Amino acid sequence: MNMLDKIIRDLIAAQGAISIASYMELALQHPEFGYYKKREPIGRTGDFITAPEVSQLFGEMLGVWCAEAWRTLGKPEPFALVELGPGRGTMMVDILRATINVGGFKDARKIYLVESDEALRARQKEVLGDVTYIDDLDQAPQMPLLIVANEFFDSLPVRQFEKTFRGWAERVVTVSGDALAIALRPLNEAEMLLIPQSFREAEPGKMFEFSPSAQAIVREAARALVSRKGKMLLIDYGYVAPSGASTVQALSNHVSTDILDRPGEVDLTAHVDFSTLTDIARAHGAKTSAIVGQGEFLTNCGIELRADALKKHATPKQAADIHAGLQRLIDDDQMGSLFKVVEITG
Ligand code: SAH
Repeated sequence: MNMLDKIIRDLIAAQGAISIASYMELALQHPEFGYYKKREPIGRTGDFITAPEVSQLFGEMLGVWCAEAWRTLGKPEPFALVELGPGRGTMMVDILRATINVGGFKDARKIYLVESDEALRARQKEVLGDVTYIDDLDQAPQMPLLIVANEFFDSLPVRQFEKTFRGWAERVVTVSGDALAIALRPLNEAEMLLIPQSFREAEPGKMFEFSPSAQAIVREAARALVSRKGKMLLIDYGYVAPSGASTVQALSNHVSTDILDRPGEVDLTAHVDFSTLTDIARAHGAKTSAIVGQGEFLTNCGIELRADALKKHATPKQAADIHAGLQRLIDDDQMGSLFKVVEITG
């Protein structure tokens, strides 16, 4: 048992079972013991590696996207380049380097970051220098926006529901003996509205999950993109059609563990529901592109040409690393198809 486990059990003793979303929120964001308070969650020595940490090619292709999106918008000046959940700041560093020779881009961009973690903010300021932090997209300035988000939405908490022989119930976290355990809390009639029509008649055992905060952020993004003009690129692992199973997972040291084990010490994520999020964006007046695999997106941006160019000036060892990074980003059996990309336009 760790400190946060004790805090969560005391909370449950005082107020009853909590939703999976509340549990995830505490485990990830608790001001003292939350996961992101750990010194270095991301990277080779951390619990997980993200695409920008795999290879500089990733951020460079995001730079290609930014330059093209900016051109399509009519090269607005100034415009806000916003990143949600920038982690170690690597992707933004690569975007800025890749766009340095795009005429006018550098002088027109103003960088805004959304980041809840103090330690990661310090790291971001170290590599990016002068940036402005905003709490949410409503605070973005009144100018055209380019918003990028990689592996941000998967870190937002989800609520989970399960069909039982007695109808739909919410999966909640409770205490059994002296350990945290999952229990089922039957839904009342009003709460049944949370279950989409397509799931109502599902077989017992089927699960449905959704992220209230991811939905709220996409709603806010769509409104901001429509009113200020602009585009957003959302990249994450996720699904187009839900599978009916839980996607919440815990990772510690690159190994998967029980989600109730050592809260605050392991990373908790859920797969992103691309079809629901794009439905929400469209319902708020934005347009959405087709949802494509990361491999296809990066290939269309020219990642293979860029890798070849880098290899020309590399040692054999460096060339092998560049090639391995490229394969990891685009291969279907690596990050190429589980990771998906969608563009939202205001
Ligand atoms: N985009 C980075 C980091 C991904 S990890 C990369 O690809 O490497 C998720 C990031 O989102 C971290 O920076 C984390 O601190 C931030 N984050 C998670 N939940 C957040 C929230 N609710 N509000 C703001 N930032 C959040």
